[in-house]
Amino acid sequence: MNILDRYHAMEYGPAPEARNEADAWLAARDFGKALFIGGDWKAASGGKTFETSEPSSGKLLAKISDANAVDIDAAVAAATKALPKWSAASGYQRAKVLYAIGRAMQRHQRLFAVLETIDNGKPIRESRDIDVPLAIRHFIHHAGWAQALDKDFPGHKGVGVVGQIIPWNFPLLMLAWKIAPALAAGCTVVLKPAEFTPLTSILFAEICERAGVPKGVVNIVQGGPEAGGAIVNHPGIQKIAFTGSSEVGKIIRKATAGSGKKLSLELGGKSAFIVFEDADLDSAVEGLVDGIWFNQGQVCCAGSRLLVQEGIADALIAKVKTRMSRLRVGSPLDKNTDIGPLVDATQLERVKGLVAEGARQGAVCWQPDAALPSSGYYHLPTLATGVSPANILAQEEVFGPVLATMTFRNTEEAIELANNTRYGLAASVWSENVNLALHVAPQLKAGVVWVNGTNMFDAACGFGGYRESGFGREGGREGMFEYLAAKLPLGQIIKPATTSAQPVEQADGSAIDRTAKLFIGGKQVRPDGNYSLAVATAKGKLAGEVGLGSRKDIRDAVSAARACRGWPEATAYNRSQVLYYLAENLSGRAAEFAARLTELTGASAKAAREEVEQSIERLFLYAGLADKFEGRVHQPPARAVTLALHEPVGVVGIVAPDSSPLLGLISLAAPALAMGNTVVAVPSERYPLLATDLYQVIEYSDIPSGAINIVTGRSAELAGVLAKHDDVDGLWVFADAETCAQAEAESVGNLKRVWSGNGRGLDWASDEAAGDAFLRRAVEVKNVWVPYGD
Ligand code: NAD
Repeated sequence: MNILDRYHAMEYGPAPEARNEADAWLAARDFGKALFIGGDWKAASGGKTFETSEPSSGKLLAKISDANAVDIDAAVAAATKALPKWSAASGYQRAKVLYAIGRAMQRHQRLFAVLETIDNGKPIRESRDIDVPLAIRHFIHHAGWAQALDKDFPGHKGVGVVGQIIPWNFPLLMLAWKIAPALAAGCTVVLKPAEFTPLTSILFAEICERAGVPKGVVNIVQGGPEAGGAIVNHPGIQKIAFTGSSEVGKIIRKATAGSGKKLSLELGGKSAFIVFEDADLDSAVEGLVDGIWFNQGQVCCAGSRLLVQEGIADALIAKVKTRMSRLRVGSPLDKNTDIGPLVDATQLERVKGLVAEGARQGAVCWQPDAALPSSGYYHLPTLATGVSPANILAQEEVFGPVLATMTFRNTEEAIELANNTRYGLAASVWSENVNLALHVAPQLKAGVVWVNGTNMFDAACGFGGYRESGFGREGGREGMFEYLAAKLPLGQIIKPATTSAQPVEQADGSAIDRTAKLFIGGKQVRPDGNYSLAVATAKGKLAGEVGLGSRKDIRDAVSAARACRGWPEATAYNRSQVLYYLAENLSGRAAEFAARLTELTGASAKAAREEVEQSIERLFLYAGLADKFEGRVHQPPARAVTLALHEPVGVVGIVAPDSSPLLGLISLAAPALAMGNTVVAVPSERYPLLATDLYQVIEYSDIPSGAINIVTGRSAELAGVLAKHDDVDGLWVFADAETCAQAEAESVGNLKRVWSGNGRGLDWASDEAAGDAFLRRAVEVKNVWVPYGD
């Protein structure tokens, strides 16, 4: 072939990355002692090992120590021993260690990249240019947070010993996302990598030794679900941070219920890639290559659902097919490779099975005409068209190089299709009209939205999802909160409610003249079951009766809360005014509420007046904060701004305490309402008449119907119904320990965000029982990336 022929053919020659250093590192290590515990290298106490092999060939790379519960115990003991000194170290001392880790990683950057590619199968271009530099950036960025801790997070301290479990798709990057914020916050860690990809974590442990990380601050244990389970259930751990599948995330949610462990879950996704007809189609195609074929589609936020506007669908699909035909599938160590092998034979079989099932359900699956390497776990990039919204390829996370395509007619339909998933991790919006893109972005139920781009990440910008994509954020300020505990003013231990049916004697006065109904959708309604609950005065007389709410009443209340658009869509200023008005109206009836408090709880007249005054003050506070607890704008090291928007969580269930029955309820409902959530409140079981009195005030305070709903009844039972309801997005429970634990365990259906007092109340009268700590729980942070430049 002469030069001219070569020029016309434009064939790529092989461009392999050298692997000799990585091979030398592999040959020199004793992987039978691969557990990094308390600064030492240990064999697994059970003597077991597991194998890690090379996805591009299936060849064995190493036999690695497989930790069991005894090893996890040792790792937790080491982390516990190291904790006092590390958490007491100054921010500057911790910052120096984090910075040293980042710098040491930089010095071994290429070895990290080659090892990652050998172990995981991802193209070297990705590990070299994305995974490793981003991992380093996380450590250097978080060095700053270590020093900023006192100033930026007053009243917070590190949670303690943290258990961290990560997946195999970004082994080093996920490790960095976990370890960097934990160390910055003053926590010590026990981290378990995935069993397919242990190698870079072992190299990272060597880096910790060299960077002067004190012994026991970072412990890295290798193993599978057994080791993972031992971490999750270990009583010496105060927080679990998990990244992985939604299935295992749910197991962990259940296992940690009632343990008091803080929990963050970064789970799967089925992210929409929405292309409007005014998009730059060539850019969108390049975005798609990155969105779904990056890391062979084994990406939690992969843009695996292409939603394209009808008028341009044929043109876009044609361009996508042409581009797919040019994707180079081959050795991941070749610098020209676009698509490497999947991580393992089991993963390959899973992807093949899902594609076959998608086709059986009517999708047309197209692949370019390309040869696959003779060995290794390769799968051709695949485009599925004619996919119905119910098709398995539109619903299930494939975690492979498979793109499912659907069309839409208009903006509303695009949003509806995009949100038609049980996940909520990420989305991309493509349009040359920034107004349209920014109109759509807030309406997408996803934690991250990229405008005219995809897969943009940065250590300063939070990442994480809603619904079955989990809860919590990694990165930036919001990521730091995941490793910090706020000092809330603890109240008494809450005892389970006594269930005596009709305990009270008839009063002789005129108090028993009505049964207070439930308050649903702005109306007073009778409970579905037509039962009522007697309410006693402090002296054991009958104060009145309230409706005994049931499952059906909660369902109705949740429907009313979901249907109320007027409140979440109102401006923050508008919500602020309404809450001020509510405070004003409550103030007009202060004496009556104080008398009711005294009658029911036996509080002195002075104490009752104080509780009412504080309730009014708290409403005033949240009315004022409604338009002040705002998001931020980040400027990541890219030509983009990232808008960290505060969005309401959605429908929030509140199970309010018996202590301070008026103030407790208002302290919980007001911040939720201020941030635009709609609320289903179960008031104090013992003193519900304060809540039923309150809705009379609500009725003439301009709060839209359905914004707040009140269902009286048995707290434990109603908390369970709220926990199981998949249309409830958040649940705050201040009840006895068993009710709290049950609510956490039963929240797994849609993985709603649960905040429970773990059987403890708060001192509601304290100033610390109000403010940002409450508002933060009332919002989701959505990061919207908006690139700029010509
Ligand atoms: P996985 O859930 O099977 O495993 C993840 C980790 O959990 C591994 O370390 C595994 O050993 C461990 N594990 C498995 N069973 C366990 C148990 N019962 N108790 C404790 N630990 C257990 O997930 P995977 O296949 O390794 O990773 C792919 C998944 O990770 C995908 O669903 C992907 O979307 C998700 N992911 C999410 C994010 C995110 O930030 N949201 C990032 C990367 C990957």
